[in-house]
Amino acid sequence: MPELVDSQQLAESLPPRTRGVIALLEENCTVCMLCARECPDWCIYIEAHKETTPPSGPGGRERQRNVLDRFAIDFSLCMYCGICVEVCPFDALFWSPAFAYSGDSLQELTHEAPQLRDWLAAVPAPPATERPLPLAGPPVAPSAGASS
Ligand code: SF4
Ligand code: SF4
Repeated sequence: MPELVDSQQLAESLPPRTRGVIALLEENCTVCMLCARECPDWCIYIEAHKETTPPSGPGGRERQRNVLDRFAIDFSLCMYCGICVEVCPFDALFWSPAFAYSGDSLQELTHEAPQLRDWLAAVPAPPATERPLPLAGPPVAPSAGASS
């Protein structure tokens, strides 16, 4: 009989940047559609509409902006390749190590925006910036006796 694994113990044994689920920071999403276009499984569903904003001052022009109506990922199709996270130019998608989201039906594996936002809570903080390289000094002239 297979041994049951405690999910808490399993979570503690995983590397912090495990690809468990994808989290969405909705306010960073500009509806550019890059993630949905590049996803090899076509399992990102985005719906949006355009809104017109008035000119910011006299002589200005009206502007149009995209407003997100729906953002969902179907994790029954997702193959966890990470392309969507990599291509998002606005840091709206992140890997979260959360993995305990099995369900009784395939439909439960389609996570809508509020659920994708909930996964943000488990996203690890970004790594500290790498130690900067020392600034380059003035060019060093070759010594007089040096032969080439
Ligand atoms: S991880 Fe890959 S398969 Fe899954 S939603 Fe992103 S691009 Fe699509
Ligand atoms: S690539 Fe990023 S900004 Fe563009 S639609 Fe996807 S999540 Fe939104």
